[in-house]
Amino acid sequence: MSTGVVLDPRFMEHQPGRGHPERPERIAVLVEMLERQAGLVRVEPRPATADEITLVHDGAYYEDVARTRERSYYAFDADTPVSARSFDTARLAAGGVLTLIDEVMAGHVRNGFALVRPPGHHAEPNRAMGFCLFNNAAIGAEYLRAHHGLQRVLIMDWDVHHGNGTQHRFERDPGVLYISTHQYPYYPGTGALDEVGAGDGEGYTINLPFPPGFGDAEYGEAFRTVIAPIVLQYEPEFVLISAGFDPHVADPLAGMEVTERGFASMARTLLGLADRTAAGRCVAVLEGGYDLRALRDCSAAVLTELRGQAEPADEFATASRAGPLLDAVRRVQGRYWRW
Ligand code: ZN
Repeated sequence: MSTGVVLDPRFMEHQPGRGHPERPERIAVLVEMLERQAGLVRVEPRPATADEITLVHDGAYYEDVARTRERSYYAFDADTPVSARSFDTARLAAGGVLTLIDEVMAGHVRNGFALVRPPGHHAEPNRAMGFCLFNNAAIGAEYLRAHHGLQRVLIMDWDVHHGNGTQHRFERDPGVLYISTHQYPYYPGTGALDEVGAGDGEGYTINLPFPPGFGDAEYGEAFRTVIAPIVLQYEPEFVLISAGFDPHVADPLAGMEVTERGFASMARTLLGLADRTAAGRCVAVLEGGYDLRALRDCSAAVLTELRGQAEPADEFATASRAGPLLDAVRRVQGRYWRW
């Protein structure tokens, strides 16, 4: 079966202003990249409705964002300026994820990639933050439960920043397993090892706070030896990936050293898990990634994995230095999961 992709030139209409790293050109390079890719099913995005966005966000906050339509410029915080078209672009981004989810659930495509902006994982239920207006992946997870009746959804967030908005939305909720690999300590400050969820959701938040300098070997070991066993025990019915490409070695914002091969390997691990527990159902949602070439090449590499057309990867040449950190994760999470 085929792979769906959501990408629309209208995602360029959100203008955070000159010099902002989360810029419209991020979509332009992806449009160019997709012109060279054959065999993908293009899925037309629709704007998410107020009801869908308020599955995650407060109604008052939704109205705050809607009101920015009347202004040529407004800044929710220093990182998160918006233009008059930002609200509509953000609705289209969230809705793009939902249309792709519908296509996967209907069996029209096996999996897919929503190449959207603005990104979402920093957006809190009640406020914009960190370039993000509406939390696209979180809205996707809630939609899978509200409209498709699923009970267990995985959000795997490999963006280099911790997805504070996603964690906060689901930290008391065992129906969404949130796993994040991220640079730590770093923006936004959350994502410590001992943040494991609370109440009924205790044990369903997994944070892997990485020091700068981790690359393909460390991410590979983490996915194989810590993340995969947890996911197999949780048995998600759908796998969402918060796919940021800012852990790339060339990214200007952060200090990780992942390459195209590393992202391909992470995607392959997650697709293997989706095959085993979720009938292959997997949708990747673009988050960050600020080096345009890396963004383009990593997105292409993940699409190749989604289509199942990649050559088997070699083992990574360098030895992983992640052992002690992963031991610490296993110690903390050992209250909830087995290895
Ligand atoms: Zn990021």
